[in-house]
Amino acid sequence: MGLLEGQTAIITGAASPRGLGKATARLFAEHGCKVAILDLDAALAEEAAADIGEAHIGLACDVTRRADCDAAAATVIEAFGHIDIVVNNAGITQPLKIMDIRHENYDAVLDVNLLGTLHMSQAVIPHMRERKSGKFVNMSSVSAQRGGGIFGGPHYSAAKAGVLGLTKAMARELAPDGIRANAICPGFIATDITQGKLTPEMKEQILAGIPMGRAGEASDVAGCALFLASELSSYVTGSEVDVNGGSLI
Ligand code: NAD
Repeated sequence: MGLLEGQTAIITGAASPRGLGKATARLFAEHGCKVAILDLDAALAEEAAADIGEAHIGLACDVTRRADCDAAAATVIEAFGHIDIVVNNAGITQPLKIMDIRHENYDAVLDVNLLGTLHMSQAVIPHMRERKSGKFVNMSSVSAQRGGGIFGGPHYSAAKAGVLGLTKAMARELAPDGIRANAICPGFIATDITQGKLTPEMKEQILAGIPMGRAGEASDVAGCALFLASELSSYVTGSEVDVNGGSLI
């Protein structure tokens, strides 16, 4: 018996084949959940959904557009009957220094990571309120906690810190409605966002800061998302859970 039997989930930014969203979608599916994979490109989202099994759907949704999120939520309710879980995973990063950030950089990074999380949540909250139940899992980052890293600029740290504040505020406001909201702070995880951009020196420097001595796998983050989306975490809300191999110890 799976941990999410009979449940349904929306996962944003989940079409990237090696990404955290796709790994989470796969694990949720293995636990009996019907998953809607949302991403910028409809064909890639549909391909990713087909890849994890027959019961799932892929939809185009740019989370920076509230209308896209509303339309996706309506389509998922029509297809699955209800929405139990939203994983706000879509994200982008830019490796800029503080003085190099232009207004367009700030807007791009804040819009996907933070405004996108707000948009997708607002699109689903009325439905969850009606059902008096729901779970949000919002993807933040170790960059929010320690102020950047090799890949994320200060605007990425600010966006991901914003995700933490938003998650806690959502948890507080929505708890009376039976809705939980938690955040995951992944450390250095091997996905497309991090691969191909590393010199051997950068990799050595990163691994030296990880007590467990290895990069995380997408499945490490998916396991945490499964915990936060399932009844195993029934009394957990407003938390930020570190998945970072001990990077902050
Ligand atoms: P990824 O680049 O593999 O996947 C991100 C996905 O988001 C892509 O499929 C992309 O198409 C999608 N996306 C981008 N803009 C979008 C938009 N406007 N609307 C909808 N989808 C959009 O990245 P990943 O490593 O799987 O990261 C997933 C999440 O985890 C991100 O929020 C990222 O910031 C966060 N994170 C990753 C790491 C890491 O080390 N990989 C660490 C900390 C946090």
